[in-house]
Amino acid sequence: MAKRDYYDILGASKGASAEDLKKAYRVKAKELHPDRNSDNPNAEAQFKELNEAYEVMKDADKKAAYDRYGHAAFEGGMGGGGAGQRGYAGGNGDFASAFSDVFEDLFGNFTGGRGGGGRSRAQRGSDLRYNLRVSMEEAFAGVQKTINVPTSVTCDICHGTGAEGGAEPVTCPTCSGMGKVRAQQGFFTVERTCPTCNGAGQMVKNPCKNCAGHGRVEKDRSLSVNIPAGVETGTRIRLAGEGEAGMRGGPSGDLYIFIEMKEHAIFQRDGVHLFCRVPITLATAALGGEVEVPTIDGGKSRVKVPAGAQTGKQMRLRAKGMPALRGGGSGDMVIELAVETPVNLTARQKEILREFDTLATDNNPEGSSFFSKVKGFWDGMKS
Ligand SMILES: [Zn+2]
Ligand SMILES: [Zn+2]
Repeated sequence: MAKRDYYDILGASKGASAEDLKKAYRVKAKELHPDRNSDNPNAEAQFKELNEAYEVMKDADKKAAYDRYGHAAFEGGMGGGGAGQRGYAGGNGDFASAFSDVFEDLFGNFTGGRGGGGRSRAQRGSDLRYNLRVSMEEAFAGVQKTINVPTSVTCDICHGTGAEGGAEPVTCPTCSGMGKVRAQQGFFTVERTCPTCNGAGQMVKNPCKNCAGHGRVEKDRSLSVNIPAGVETGTRIRLAGEGEAGMRGGPSGDLYIFIEMKEHAIFQRDGVHLFCRVPITLATAALGGEVEVPTIDGGKSRVKVPAGAQTGKQMRLRAKGMPALRGGGSGDMVIELAVETPVNLTARQKEILREFDTLATDNNPEGSSFFSKVKGFWDGMKS
């Protein structure tokens, strides 16, 4: 078959400008693209012919050579009628990249679909995360917890091989073990992950029925975990190899336990220190006395309240806090006093308090200092 004239192929007239040739090429390329012409057996050949023509015409030097000598200018270079995948002799790089300027916006990226796969069948299992809520008492003493982790475990019927009876896998017949297949898409050869073996390059002839050939099955696994004393929200405990089972004999992932502290009814925590707000009566605050406070180990401590204690007064109990996670002693417990105003007074109590108030002249150190400041403030406003 005689080669057609490049201008005819592009639908352009002789002497057309580079811009016009490019436009003409785009129109034809859309029209003839194999993706739109699945019912036209000639489309692919015409599309190749079009690309060959534009490859020459978009290059000023090659266009000049063609204008002068016709097809003879490139003879021996196109590998027999444009069937070759390379550009003309002396061209640099492969055909697809030579066209990338117009191809990207026309057809998107042709070289996609690579990636994935690899030659090895074995695949490491994923790491798993397990959120574990722990009470303050458990974090104080340390605790052993049994947790149920939904995970996939090695199939015990095929011992993780994925093959019935534990048979050895065979080379994938679709991709001959490459893990990838090449497909002709229009003018281009596209590499894709092999659909038969998903890129593994190997497959089992008779997949294990228990695990459908994956070598692992979904299962709730019961695990006993040692939670050391001193953990707090954000502490991570790694259990090596207790994550998801690997695929087809690959190693297991790890299991990470993320600690989250439950709120405590009495204690708040700040690192290794504990904080506890303790209400005391008006009389205890004024006269002094003792209060009994709970401690995190389940015991109690007696704390002396000095006479005249105010709300907000803090006292520190050494080493009654939380243990440090990596050793090194314990934190403190900080007690903050809160003086309570009595409510639901009897007539007698009211009477006593009224009497008290008439006698109270300068018993409120904070109050007197506040009101003298207020007086100074008002005096300042007047002047
Ligand atoms: Zn199995
Ligand atoms: Zn394959």
